[in-house]
Amino acid sequence: MRDKIDDEILEEVSEEVEMQEKNLTEKLHRANVRWPWLKIVAAIVLVVVALSVVAIVQHGAGQETGETVETENGQTEPETGMGPEEGKLEDGKTGEKTEEEKQPEPKPEAPKPVTVPQNTGRKLVALTFDDGPSASTTGRLLDILAAKKVKVTFFVLGNMAQRSPALIQREVAEGHEVESHTMSHQNLVKLSGAAIQDEIAGADAVLKSVTGSPAKLVRPPYGSVNATVRANVGKPMIIWTVDPEDWKYRNAATVRANVVSRTFDGAIVLMHDIHSTTVDAVGAIIDDLRAAGYEFLTVSELAAERGVVLQNGASYGSFRP
Ligand code: ZN
Repeated sequence: MRDKIDDEILEEVSEEVEMQEKNLTEKLHRANVRWPWLKIVAAIVLVVVALSVVAIVQHGAGQETGETVETENGQTEPETGMGPEEGKLEDGKTGEKTEEEKQPEPKPEAPKPVTVPQNTGRKLVALTFDDGPSASTTGRLLDILAAKKVKVTFFVLGNMAQRSPALIQREVAEGHEVESHTMSHQNLVKLSGAAIQDEIAGADAVLKSVTGSPAKLVRPPYGSVNATVRANVGKPMIIWTVDPEDWKYRNAATVRANVVSRTFDGAIVLMHDIHSTTVDAVGAIIDDLRAAGYEFLTVSELAAERGVVLQNGASYGSFRP
């Protein structure tokens, strides 16, 4: 009896096992049929995940790059020359600093005007002329400026001032600002601290003998500034934000177009009064900018109008509202 039951059970169980085996085989078969589709679905999922990861990584990298640019801008300066954009960035940096120092905003929704621009609505620009005075061109430039009633800033070389002291005196007498472009136009970043001081002191001595006072401001040749220069110049440094490259384009129409198209409110424009083609362009530049609503100030006037107190060893490319 027991054996029989056992047999029956055994038979049932083996039937059951057989059934299950069948089912399993069927399932495996179905799975095999579906496998290519599962493979495709899995591949799509993988691609989507990979793309998301790439997007996240790129986003992170972008943010990092942005920060690096700001840091670099805050800490280093171009070794040779200075493009208009670098000058703008530097100015932007200065503006940001002032904002933070003056009023740390507690609420992000609060209205933005932290630094209220003085003389709202005025468009101001400072024309500056380097490397003179030149016996052959600076007198003619002064005639044009007098006729147009425009005051500019001359960054003169000590050794040029020595040669033409009368032109320096005329610049001062006619209301222009006369500042230092160093004694002999050396690239200051290549000099020792002592040599930098000599370049500044040399020009100051000449200016003092010719005009009665040393320079208040320095324009480093090539706009070239580093930590050693900052530490040894001992005066505020004025760079620029509009550079028509008049030394390269000896063509009045090009110089005029470059200046007029690039000038903005608060810009400092770099030109050279030693090039006759530049002097040829100045009358039209003044007319064009005036027609666009610009007023002409010296560099010190522009800084004062924009409420900027110039610091020794700091460099400035523009004075925006
Ligand atoms: Zn120069």
